[in-house]
Order: sequence, then structure tokens, then C-alpha cells
Amino acid sequence: MRAISGAALQATLDEITAEMRAATERGRVANYIPPLAAVPDSRFGIAVVLGTGEVHVAGDADEAFSIQSISKVFALTLALGAVGDQLWNRVGREPSGSAFNSIVQLETEHGIPRNPFINAGAIVVCDVLLGRLQPREAIGQLLRFVRELAGDDTIAIDESVARAEQDTGFTNRALANYMRAFGNIHGEVELVLGTYFHFCALAMSCRQLAMAGRYLMAGGISDGHRVITDKRARRINAVMMSCGQYDNSGDFAYRIGLPGKSGVGGGILAVAPGIASIAVWSPGLNPSGNSQLGQMALERLVQRTGWSVFEPR
Ligand code: GLN
Repeated sequence: MRAISGAALQATLDEITAEMRAATERGRVANYIPPLAAVPDSRFGIAVVLGTGEVHVAGDADEAFSIQSISKVFALTLALGAVGDQLWNRVGREPSGSAFNSIVQLETEHGIPRNPFINAGAIVVCDVLLGRLQPREAIGQLLRFVRELAGDDTIAIDESVARAEQDTGFTNRALANYMRAFGNIHGEVELVLGTYFHFCALAMSCRQLAMAGRYLMAGGISDGHRVITDKRARRINAVMMSCGQYDNSGDFAYRIGLPGKSGVGGGILAVAPGIASIAVWSPGLNPSGNSQLGQMALERLVQRTGWSVFEPR
């Protein structure tokens, strides 16, 4: 790994932002709900929090966007805290090779989703959290958790997004009911989904997201406080690396070489363990539902800093 000064990192982020602003192939903004369809594809933001605590941002890094499936990382962290490794009896940790909302594997795999980062897996994670909490409490717990991780009490859930998810979530409803038929959803389907939709509707900026990801960069420690064990942080990073971009995860590992989790709002949280927590946002998506320019920006950042986990240290 090459050492990089704060000034050089800032220059790199500014440079990448200028390149992304000029890009013409920007992907397609999610349009399954109006609040996401309304986001201009010209947006681009990036934030990097270093292990030293230093923060560097560029572009629209302070504009809140819908983090969508990135919330699956925080929900997984809470569920592992609640039930420990027993969670893995109800959800796998293998890449699916299928779309984020695919139902096909659930039949042959008896209602056990491949991993916690596809929709089916995250719905099981919500059900696990509801084993101990009411939906309102589980939503409050997740919100408090990300606020604490980011050190920012202004983070909120966008109720208009949650409502739109609720109104259009037929596939998620099918997934949940199907898993319920296999006995892998224990609670009432609508309550589980209501919780899931609220998790998806968390609104955060790149700066807030990169701050929230510090515990994954720093062996489970955020701001001097232990959030999870170092072993668990390592393992969440491993699942992010292998499953964090759906059927595009292999390509992400190949091009970027960092644990990362994307969302259909166009955000990606990426972790360079020991070095940096990185959040990037650009709403145009590639065909797998991952930010087109977000991935490109991360690829360039990693090339210019040597931060890939596969780079000799
Ligand atoms: N709200 C989206 C859904 O459930 C989240 C999916 C995503 O971000 N990939 O379909």
C-alpha cells in the first residue's frame, strides 16, 4: 500500500468527482417508486473517513439519499448481536448469482435465502429482530444505531419512501409469504415487511454513511467504543465482499477489491479494513441495480490509492 497524504487524498477525490460529473454513461435511476425516480442523475458524492478520523469529502457528499439495501448491513449487525451465529441457520452466506429480489432459489433451497444482503435474506433478518421487539421498537433501534455510529442525530427515515415501498412491494410480499410457507418467517408477514420497508427508507448522506461504516473499517470499534467483536467485523466484511452487489459481486471484487454494499438509491458503502470507510453516491444504476458511477469512482479511488484488500500490505 502506498502512503497518501490528506492533501493528496482530497485532490484525488476532487479529481474523481470532476471525472464523474463529466461522465455520459450514468446508468438508470431506479423508477419503481416516485421518490427515487425524482432524483436527478447528475448527483455525485463521495466521502472517506480514514482510520485516523480524518474526513475528506467531494461533490454532493452532504446531500441525503435513500440508502435502501445498504441498511441490510446495519440490520445484519443488530441481528447477529441479538441471536449470534444462530442466525446462519436461517440465512446462508453464499453469493446468490441472482437478482436482489429473485425468488428462484428459495424453492430448491427450502425457504433459506442465500445471504442476508439479498431482499429475501434481509426480510429474514427483520423477522429475527422482531423475535424480540415490536416493529416500532426495531425501527427505532436501527435508527438509534446508525445515528450513534455516524455520531449524527439528524439522520432520519424518509416516510414517503417507506410508504411508497409499502404500496409497491409485491415482490417482497411474495418472498416473505413464500418463506413463511417454509416456516422461515415466524412473525406476521405485514409487520416484518413494514419493518423492512422502513429500514430501506433510511436517508443518509455520504458523509454520514462513511462515518457509520467506521466500525467495519476498525475491527468493530467506532469512535473509541466497541460496537462488535473484531471477528464479527471481519466476517461482515467477508459477506459484503462476496454478496454485497448481488449478481455483480464477483465483478466488484475483481475491479475494486473491497467489501462493499450497494443500494438501489445509488449509494455504496465500501470498507478498506484498517484504512478507510468510504461512501459514494450516484443514483444511476447498472443492470444489476448497483450505482454505475459509484462503482467506477471506487475503482478509480482504489487504483489511485492502492487500497484494495488484495494489494500487498
Ligand atoms: N427497497 C428495495 C427493495 O426492497 C431495496 C432493494 C435494493 O436496494 N437493492 O426492492
